[in-house]
Amino acid sequence: MRIPFLDLKGPYLELKEELDAAYRRAMESGLYILGHEVETFESEFAAYCGAKFCVGVGNGLDALHLILRAYNIGIGDEVIVPANTYIATWLAVSCAGATPIPVEPDECTFNIDPNLVKAAITPKTKAIIPVHLYGHPADMDPIVEIANQYGVKVIEDAAQAHGAIYKNRCAGSLGDAAGFSFYPGKNLGAFGDGGAVVTNDERIASRVRVLRNYGSRIKYVNEEKGFNSRLDEMQSAFLRVKLKKLDEWNERRRKIARCYLDGLKDVPGLLLPQITSGVDAIWHLFVVRISQRDKLQEHLSSVGIGTLIHYPIPPHLSSAYVDRGWSERDFPITERLAAEVLSLPMGPHLDSNAGGRIVEAIRRF
Ligand SMILES: *Cc1c(COP(=O)(O)O)cnc(C)c1O
Repeated sequence: MRIPFLDLKGPYLELKEELDAAYRRAMESGLYILGHEVETFESEFAAYCGAKFCVGVGNGLDALHLILRAYNIGIGDEVIVPANTYIATWLAVSCAGATPIPVEPDECTFNIDPNLVKAAITPKTKAIIPVHLYGHPADMDPIVEIANQYGVKVIEDAAQAHGAIYKNRCAGSLGDAAGFSFYPGKNLGAFGDGGAVVTNDERIASRVRVLRNYGSRIKYVNEEKGFNSRLDEMQSAFLRVKLKKLDEWNERRRKIARCYLDGLKDVPGLLLPQITSGVDAIWHLFVVRISQRDKLQEHLSSVGIGTLIHYPIPPHLSSAYVDRGWSERDFPITERLAAEVLSLPMGPHLDSNAGGRIVEAIRRF
């Protein structure tokens, strides 16, 4: 029996009746853009995150991009981003016309190293975007402290962190504003693209509402040059069904993570993800580190176990950013991680026996 890296159909099969009912409800409403489902999902998701406002947008990249625009961050401004992240974090900054300034990760948590953030701040810095990579909240307290000291914004990239907890508070409520993605593979995933901005800042929520809809609050009255990036009615109806399951499904992920952590704890040369105190991760990904990464991946593939690499090419070495003139060894920790990380199968619909089989296969290797 093959074990896929991720079972995307499982959520539909488990919630088929409710999702089918949501589909019919959305279809029969006769209103397909910015209607009741979007509005209701927005208030449900804001409440879930413990924040005042949620604005549904087209995807996670747009969520971050529109937050930056709402803060008037653009040409000539710098935004501090993790060197070790999915490229979308950087692209959001570039979309806004600002310059991403990468900072290396803490080698234990893989998240942006707060000790290095201060040195990256210049008079041009306008914001810091910590990413809760793999569902592990970044160390927010020192980041927020530095941001307050220099008067810059903290924008969470919470695309991998729906429901993650940092010191009793939920991801999405830890900075000035947060961007979420509902890409199907995320912990809260739609059946297509989707995203949201979550914030306690009424001005930002209101401005993103305008920016996502052609710069318009009232039909055909355009206050500014906006975009078309709206969360879909249909996807909102689906997300409302899945939001009710989020905590339970995150708990299933934690169980799988515990199985990996127990089963693999004494394997020489294999570095396991670290659990920091005060943090409750939601295991978007379970990522191990090993110098013989490619060989392990091949071995697992040969016994039918799917794995992925998050991420094989760091943003600073991707063609998208050749204009910045970086080369290898400019961000050595990030580059080492890119060469050594491997994501094991993880998700709420992983077969209950799969964890044990995967542990066995790795131990044999
Ligand atoms: C998925 C993801 C995004 C982008 O979200 P999309 O909805 O795919 O645009 C941004 N940042 C991180 C860390 C992500 O994992």
